[in-house]
Amino acid sequence: MPEFGWQAKWDRGGAVHGQPAPDHRVRLAEILAQVSREALQADGLQEVLQRIVDCLVGRLPVAIASIILLDDTTQRFVQEVWAGELALEQVDDLPWDVAFGAAGRCARTGKAQLIVDVHADPDYVAGNPAVRSEYLVPIRHRDRLHGVLNIESTDEDFFSAATCTVFDAVAHQIAGAIHLARVVAELEAANEKLRLLSTVDGLTGIANRRGFDERLVADCERLAREGGTLSLLLVDADCFKQLNDALGHLHGDECLRRLARICAGFVEDDAGMVARFGGEEIVLLLPHRSLAQAALVAERLRRRVEEAAMAHPTSIVAPWLTVSIGVCAMVPDNAARSPARLLSGADRALYAAKLRGRNCVVSWDLAANAVEDSGA
Ligand code: GH3
Ligand code: MG
Ligand code: MG
Repeated sequence: MPEFGWQAKWDRGGAVHGQPAPDHRVRLAEILAQVSREALQADGLQEVLQRIVDCLVGRLPVAIASIILLDDTTQRFVQEVWAGELALEQVDDLPWDVAFGAAGRCARTGKAQLIVDVHADPDYVAGNPAVRSEYLVPIRHRDRLHGVLNIESTDEDFFSAATCTVFDAVAHQIAGAIHLARVVAELEAANEKLRLLSTVDGLTGIANRRGFDERLVADCERLAREGGTLSLLLVDADCFKQLNDALGHLHGDECLRRLARICAGFVEDDAGMVARFGGEEIVLLLPHRSLAQAALVAERLRRRVEEAAMAHPTSIVAPWLTVSIGVCAMVPDNAARSPARLLSGADRALYAAKLRGRNCVVSWDLAANAVEDSGA
């Protein structure tokens, strides 16, 4: 009687050219080493898990091997990766609560669960009707319970004490690799969140200056390569200092949020961008718009702000909030120089709009290095 009850597959990988099969402990060490190697060579958590279960069903005579991961509250299973000759039919049900199933019992108790007859176990959730027995081992790294290693067999007598020892050792062996992959995945997610936060303006929720600067450089590089016009609108709230003085800074903040929402409505697709340039200034980037087209957008935006009729009792322009807009456009030719030229053109146009009495749109013609009158 073979020690682990799986002599055929065990021997397949061991007896070479009539040589005797190595000792089971040597084979176990080989499997553990291979599982570790597979896990460490994988790229990302999903691949780590997949390689481990593939390795287990490739090396051992099991019908299904799966790893079910818990979330960090250890109250819900959130991810399952499996391999096997039989299909596992319950994978789509995720996430599921640890109150349910034999895997849940394993997670709740923190102890391995041997189910010699799945039909006699009240917690067993059928994954495949051909399965007769199941063994579940907690995957724990130090004090963090990551999930459960689930092994299923079509044979009722499969899980002898010696067999269970093998899976205990495997669960122990893979815990470190899973821990590492999860920590890396969590760090990457946290970094992405931080990156997004670092490019979003806290007051208005639109992109901030950093996000805008990155995008402007990227758009200039792309359009310098592909060819195409990039337009920029610099929107400045008129007499905003007086608005704060008259109605309070918090009211001013609310007006800025509304202004940002209005501006965002003029960037219809992902190609364009809206950002808080600073203070009471908002910038819009509109790729593939000519100077004349961008000036028309700016004029509609200016009117939309007026229509919003945000009260401004002390403005020198009107009793409601108005904006002045500077517009510039270029076909970027040089990614290093173009962003500054485009911004400087829009800034000059904005300055001219203020001089013209505010609440108006002025375009800057880069070729003439002067205000473009038809855009006014
Ligand atoms: P102009 O028409 O020439 O643009 O006049 P202005 O008062 O809008 O321009 P100025 O540059 O003199 O002042 C900008 C004001 O915008 C002053 C500042 O308190 C206000 N401001 C800048 N950032 C914020 C903010 O986050 N919240 C509020 N409420 N006000 C802000
Ligand atoms: Mg300003
Ligand atoms: Mg202003």
